[in-house]
Amino acid sequence: MAPAARPRALRLPHVSSLAVRDLIELASTDTFDAVTEQIRNLGGCASPVNLTGFTEHQHADTKERVRFYSSSQEPTGRLLTACGNRRSSRCPACSRLYAADTFHLIRAGLCGGKNVEETIRSHPRVFVTLTAASFGPVHNRRTTTGTPRRCACGTRHQEDAPELGTPLRPASYDYAGAVLWNAHAGDLWGRFTTYLRRELAAHFRMTQKAFNAAVRLSFAKVAEYQKRGLVHFHAVVRFDGPDGHTTAPPPWATVDAFKSAVPHAARRAWFTLASDATGDRIIRWGNRIDVREIKALGDGELTDHKVAAYVAKYATKSAEGTGTVDRTLMCRLCNGRGHVKAPDGFWDVCEYCEGTGQAEPIKNLAVKHHVRQMIRTAWNLGHLPEFAHLKLWKWAHMLGFRGHFSTKSRAYSTTLGALRDIRRAWRIAQADRARAGHPTPNEETTFVVSHWTYMGTGYRPGEQFLAAQTRHEIALALDHAERIKTEGEDWQ
Ligand SMILES: [Zn+2]
Ligand SMILES: [Zn+2]
Ligand SMILES: [Zn+2]
Repeated sequence: MAPAARPRALRLPHVSSLAVRDLIELASTDTFDAVTEQIRNLGGCASPVNLTGFTEHQHADTKERVRFYSSSQEPTGRLLTACGNRRSSRCPACSRLYAADTFHLIRAGLCGGKNVEETIRSHPRVFVTLTAASFGPVHNRRTTTGTPRRCACGTRHQEDAPELGTPLRPASYDYAGAVLWNAHAGDLWGRFTTYLRRELAAHFRMTQKAFNAAVRLSFAKVAEYQKRGLVHFHAVVRFDGPDGHTTAPPPWATVDAFKSAVPHAARRAWFTLASDATGDRIIRWGNRIDVREIKALGDGELTDHKVAAYVAKYATKSAEGTGTVDRTLMCRLCNGRGHVKAPDGFWDVCEYCEGTGQAEPIKNLAVKHHVRQMIRTAWNLGHLPEFAHLKLWKWAHMLGFRGHFSTKSRAYSTTLGALRDIRRAWRIAQADRARAGHPTPNEETTFVVSHWTYMGTGYRPGEQFLAAQTRHEIALALDHAERIKTEGEDWQ
């Protein structure tokens, strides 16, 4: 770049760190406050989205420019917005925000708020836990009486023992069954909800049609991995009136009906997977089925606040609790095929993965034997014609689970998308307000034109320092808030 273009650039040959040099360069400009402010607004995001573009407000009739904001007004020529990633392993700051959104969403569906009436509190609701079937005995640490019992292997395992959840006899463990179960867990949940409606109708001695006309079921669920690498579900299930959360359910729709119908529905929801390679497999729920009433208030009980906190906590987790990796293992160049189509129409071996289709070799991953075996099984099953549609090689790092971590029925409460949209729009508007230098125009008489393009993700090296500082401040504030909160609130 010509020296004239950057008159303020400093020559700092004695500073060897690129990040420090960049920070000094940023700090020596007269827009350093604006740089700092922009980064502080990201709340410590690990990998912000870089945008360039503009938003222009025009007078609706005269088309005259009332207000203009462009990313070129930012000191570094770009607008940074938070990445919004759900996963705590990717972006702790944004995942905290996601957890907070999930908390508000679940809570709104339990006690009102965010455009949901408070009368929702009186709707009967339960917290349901459904687990996977067994695919062979695993090392465990049962603590039914408070003290841990001896595992089948003869040992009393420590709480964090690495062998917990791994098979007692790996050679005979049904890995194909376990991976296929994870891959169909979402379908099994769907089937369960269908049977739950049927069982409830039968419980009230009604036809399905009459039941559906009188009551609506609303769900919000999260998926969580157990140590053995299988997914299980926690869900809030609620009775609503025929129009969803805005209407009251009939008085006969009670918690007791759920308590009787949920176990029946879970037992009836199963299906068979036919495969020549692995043999037929029955996909069904395990024996541990739990249905508990969610109370509005109460000491030591399952209250709406506790449930919302619990669900929010798991919404930011992925499979990493099982010790797997947090990225897909599929080679992106060849989409896991191992081959790429050459200009002459023939298939060539992919140069990037040398034909394995793996972005990094499964045998080299730093994971436990059990996890590697789950990953390898998913990868291999994915290449069988009968399971090709499951795209299992893409989800091998998730141990076969392809579903969403948190889902809810449409009538449950507000949506995460709605909460996120509001926030992103608010951020752009905030940048707009800070830089445009004009009063906020009247929405009814203005017309908004905007155009934004994605440039990439991440920080400049010097900005990394500022982001780290913000993260540190947030951590201190959180720690302080945590200490102020009463000790009794433990969301385990
Ligand atoms: Zn982020
Ligand atoms: Zn054991
Ligand atoms: Zn490849």
